[in-house]
Amino acid sequence: MSAAIKPSELRQKRIIERDSVSALYADSVGGLLVTIACALALIFGFPGSGLQEFKYTWGALFFCLMSFRLIDTVYWHRKLRYTDYKPSGPQKRFVISVFITSIMWMTYALTLIQSADWLELSTLIIILSSLAGGGATVLSGNLKLSVIYSLLMTAPLSLMMVLSDDKNQNILGVLGLFFAVVLVLASIRAAQFTRNAIMLKNRNADLVDSMEEKNKEISEANSALESKVQDRTREIYELSNIDPLTGLFNRNAFSTSLSKILVNCEAQGRPFALLFIDLDGFKAINDTQGHGVGDRVLVAIAQRLTLFSKGPEYICRWGGDEFIIVIEDVDSDDAIDFGRDLIKSLSQRIQVDLSKLTVGATIGVAMYPEHGNDESELISLADTAMYVQKEKAKSDVCVFSADMRKSQLREQELKEGLALALQNHEFHLVYQPVIDNQTNEVSFCEVLIRWELDGVLIPPQEFIPIAEQYGFIHEIGEWVLMKACVESGNWIFDDKVDISVNVSVPQLLRNDFVDIVKAALVNSGFPATSLHLEITESVFANNADVMFARIAELQSLGIKVSVDDFGTGFSSLSQLQKMSADIVKIDRSFIASMDEGGQAIIQATQYMAKQLGYSVVAEGVETKEQADELSDIGVNCSQGYYFSYPMTIDKLSQWYEDFKQGKLKDPS
Ligand code: C2E
Ligand code: CA
Ligand code: CA
Repeated sequence: MSAAIKPSELRQKRIIERDSVSALYADSVGGLLVTIACALALIFGFPGSGLQEFKYTWGALFFCLMSFRLIDTVYWHRKLRYTDYKPSGPQKRFVISVFITSIMWMTYALTLIQSADWLELSTLIIILSSLAGGGATVLSGNLKLSVIYSLLMTAPLSLMMVLSDDKNQNILGVLGLFFAVVLVLASIRAAQFTRNAIMLKNRNADLVDSMEEKNKEISEANSALESKVQDRTREIYELSNIDPLTGLFNRNAFSTSLSKILVNCEAQGRPFALLFIDLDGFKAINDTQGHGVGDRVLVAIAQRLTLFSKGPEYICRWGGDEFIIVIEDVDSDDAIDFGRDLIKSLSQRIQVDLSKLTVGATIGVAMYPEHGNDESELISLADTAMYVQKEKAKSDVCVFSADMRKSQLREQELKEGLALALQNHEFHLVYQPVIDNQTNEVSFCEVLIRWELDGVLIPPQEFIPIAEQYGFIHEIGEWVLMKACVESGNWIFDDKVDISVNVSVPQLLRNDFVDIVKAALVNSGFPATSLHLEITESVFANNADVMFARIAELQSLGIKVSVDDFGTGFSSLSQLQKMSADIVKIDRSFIASMDEGGQAIIQATQYMAKQLGYSVVAEGVETKEQADELSDIGVNCSQGYYFSYPMTIDKLSQWYEDFKQGKLKDPS
């Protein structure tokens, strides 16, 4: 079985063969010219030696052969040299033509030996030996050829001369034979040398090839690595810049792109509007339908927003259900129109599985450069405008105004003040008596907080909402409760008089609220049965059932619960029944408007409360007429400036003395 030759080996063999042929052709021009010169010298250099006709015929044939070889050599130089040519054809041509050349020289020499004189013969043998010597190197690309050439050029002539009768010829012949042997050995060495050189060159080429291959592999591995690094970089970029749910820019990325927008718009003197969008009713969907549905609503909203955006860098998910969108080259009227279109689109129904859901959106707008030229400032201003609009009416657009900035600064100032107010002892309490309309006795006193910041009294209407918003209300509320229980422990009233403490919605929503109340009672020794807690109707807006349970728990301790500002919230009659409060405090706006229909509401509330077994307190009683009328209607208690302003506990004793003697101060 013969071993199959691999294609790579075949290719290798062919390359070596071609290199050998190339070596033959590359060196042959010089050799050919020398050969032609030698032939001319011999033909025309010895005219008198006879056989001239033979010489011309031989010369003609020889020049034809030389011409062919020259043309063939030029052809190789011009057409084949630098190509991937097939070596077999040129090789055949070269070998045959060199072989014929040597045969012709041999014929020439053997013919001339008969008639040539000593000089011509010597010249001939020297020329042939020289040519043979040159052939040993010039033909080293082909071992066989160079050996045959050397032998044919020198051996036959030398042999003939050895066999000759002429002694001189014998000597020359022996020398010639000796020279022929030397030439054969030299040819073999030269051919081996050339072959080694070719092999070495090809091995180097192989090495270069394999290095190139390795380089290719390395660069492929490199580019694979590079693309992996790029993928990873993109992933990291997405993780830190893209909101995974909606695919929109997150805060981080948007802040960067907003700075770029700012720089561009500043350079080109172009305005833009920043719209801060907050969804309305999203929390309810999340709470009732679950977070999965909520997420899908957010995705749908993001898709709709994207349709309104110039590009991904102009839009972001700022937080939970808050988004921001930037539109360039608009004034505030355009921004309002744009915002309203946006609200219309966002308010379209969203299909999630079988349910159709709707959310609204409230939008605040800040204009660049009119309102600010800093990205966080613009976002904060648009947020403020959104917040203001939300308080006013949801699902509409509001552009930021200077007044909002003023109130924002004020809010900031109060927020900072509130953080230190307790430790700086800036709070104190005042008490406002609530009078029983039937007995004309003090029924209880409402506890109201006062804050004196840098010698100025800040109205609770202003700072309580801020305390609620920023969480200070818990500490403050706890302090009020404790302080009221301790202060009223040394009560100046003859009979037991209850205190009524206001409680904010966030306080009541906290799970530990009942514990906090209990702790205040225990620590102060104040009886639970003398404590009222005033809560507003709005506490029932969310988590109504939890609130009803909490109220019941407080009542089980003996504490009375009042519904404050009744009529201003949205309590329905059925809710009032469920609340099972002890006291209903009718908001002072109804007392102030008693002549314009308020009386009817008071009467209705009074009737309803009576049915449910609640006590009714009228707030904001400022005149004797109001007090009398309320008494006539059957309202249990009255509170207001007509009886007393809220007072510190020290002033309360003097007031109480006067009150007992029937001396009511004129509130004016
Ligand atoms: P509120 O609970 O409705 O308290 C009654 C408010 O009406 C008090 O205002 C009181 O000074 C005022 N007032 C009483 N009689 C009259 C009257 O005849 N005419 C008019 N026009 N007003 C009258 P104040 O003290 O400024 O308190 C405002 C609100 O601040 C309170 O309204 C209450 O919601 C809140 N607040 C006050 N103290 C506390 C507190 O300690 N904790 C909590 N959470 N809220 C408090
Ligand atoms: Ca109150
Ligand atoms: Ca009130």
